[in-house]
Amino acid sequence: MVTVKKKRKQAGLTTKIFFALLAGIITGVIMYYFVPPSYVRDTVFVDGIFHFIGNGFIRGMQMLVVPLVFASLVTGTMSIGDTKKLGKIGVRTVAFYMLTTALAIAIALGLASLLRPGMGMNLVQNAEQAADAAANAAASADVSIVQTLLEIIPKNPVASLAEGNMLQIIFIAIIVGILMAKMGERATSMANLFTELNDLMMDMTMLVMKVAPFGVFCLVAKTFSGIGFEVLFSMLLYVGGVIGSLIIQCLFVYMGILQLVGGINPFIFLKKFLPVMGFAFSTASSNATVPLSINTLKEMGVSKQVSSFTVPLGATINMDGTAIMQGVAVVFVANAYNIPLTAVDYLTVIATATLASVGTAGIPSVGLVTLSMVFNSVGLPVEGIAMIMGIDRILDMARTAINVTGDAAITAIMAKKNDMFDKERFLQRKAKATDAS
Ligand code: ASP
Repeated sequence: MVTVKKKRKQAGLTTKIFFALLAGIITGVIMYYFVPPSYVRDTVFVDGIFHFIGNGFIRGMQMLVVPLVFASLVTGTMSIGDTKKLGKIGVRTVAFYMLTTALAIAIALGLASLLRPGMGMNLVQNAEQAADAAANAAASADVSIVQTLLEIIPKNPVASLAEGNMLQIIFIAIIVGILMAKMGERATSMANLFTELNDLMMDMTMLVMKVAPFGVFCLVAKTFSGIGFEVLFSMLLYVGGVIGSLIIQCLFVYMGILQLVGGINPFIFLKKFLPVMGFAFSTASSNATVPLSINTLKEMGVSKQVSSFTVPLGATINMDGTAIMQGVAVVFVANAYNIPLTAVDYLTVIATATLASVGTAGIPSVGLVTLSMVFNSVGLPVEGIAMIMGIDRILDMARTAINVTGDAAITAIMAKKNDMFDKERFLQRKAKATDAS
C-alpha cells in the first residue's frame, strides 16, 4: 500500500517538473513583454519570491552534492572491490567521455561552417588586441598537463571536501573504498556508517526534490523575465548552430551509442531521463544535478556502483554541450573578425575544447570562461566573447541539459557492459519506488 502510494507520488513529480518548466517559461515571457517594470514585478516577484525560492532550491541540491558523492562513491567502490574491474571501468569511461566530446565539437564546427554565423559583421581588431591575442596564444601553449594531473591528488582531503573539489574527492573516495574492501571485517562499522550516510543522502535528495516544481518554476520564470526573444533573433545563426548541434549530439551520438554500443533502447532511456534534463535546464548546473541523476539512473536499473563514480566524474570532466557552444563560438567570432581558420586550427580547437571541457566546472556560465582558452589556442580575439555573453544564459541552460545526458548515457552503457544493469527495471513502465540500495 505504502509502495503504491510512493510510486504514484514519484510519477507525479516528473509531470509536475515539466509543467513547472513550461509555466515558468510562459510566466517569464509574459512578464518581460506585457508587465511594465514596477516595484511589484521586479522587487517583489523577480528579485524577491522567484530569486529566493529558485536559489533556495539550487542551494538545497548543492548542499547534498559533496556528502552524497563521497558516501556513494566509497560504498560503490567498496562493493566492486576488484581494483582491476574498477580500473577498466574508469579508463573506458574517460575514453568514452573524451570521444563524445571530440565528436560534439566536430559536429559544432561542421554545422557552424555551413550556417556561417557572424559573416559580414566585418569587425576589426586594433593592433593592441591583435598583439594580445598572439601573446595569449603563445602563453596558452604552456598550460601544464602535469600540473593539472598533479592537482588531482589532494594535499588535505578535508579541504577537498570543504572546497567541493570534485576530482580530489573522487580520488580519495576511491582509495578509501578500495582499502575498506580489502580490510573486510576490520572495517565493518565504517562500512555501515558510509552505507547509512549514503541512504540518508538519497532520502534527503528525495526530500529536496519535493520542492522541485516550485524551484524550477521560479528559476525559469526569473530567467525568462529578463531576456527577450529579440536578442535571440539578432544572433539567430549562432543560436541555431548551438541548438542544432546540441540536438544532433543528443539524437544521433547518444541515441546511436546507447543502441549500438550498449544495446539499450534509446527512446525509453530518453523518456525516463527527461526530468533530469529539465532539472539541468532550469539550474544550468551539472554539479547540482548529480544527486538527481544518480537517483533517476538507479530507478532506471543502473547500479549505483557505477553511477556514483561515473556521474560525478562526468559532471566534472565531460561537457559535450559546453564544447558545442565553444565550437560554434569559434566559427562565429572568426567570421565576425574575418580571421580565416585552417584545417590545423580546426584540429587545435577540437583538442583544446576537449581539454577545456575537463577544466570546466559544472556550474552556470563557466563554459564562457574556459572559452577564452579555446580562443587563445587559435589566436582569436578574446573580446569576441562579449558578443555572445548577452544570450549565454539560455544557451547555458540548454547545453547543461546535454552535458548531463552525455554523462548518463555513458554511465548506462558502462553499467550494461559490466553486468550492473537491471534490464527488467529499465523496461518497467513506471519508476520503482526508491529503496536505498
Ligand atoms: N553550466 C554548465 C554545466 O554546469 C557549464 C557551462 O557550460 O558553463 O554543465
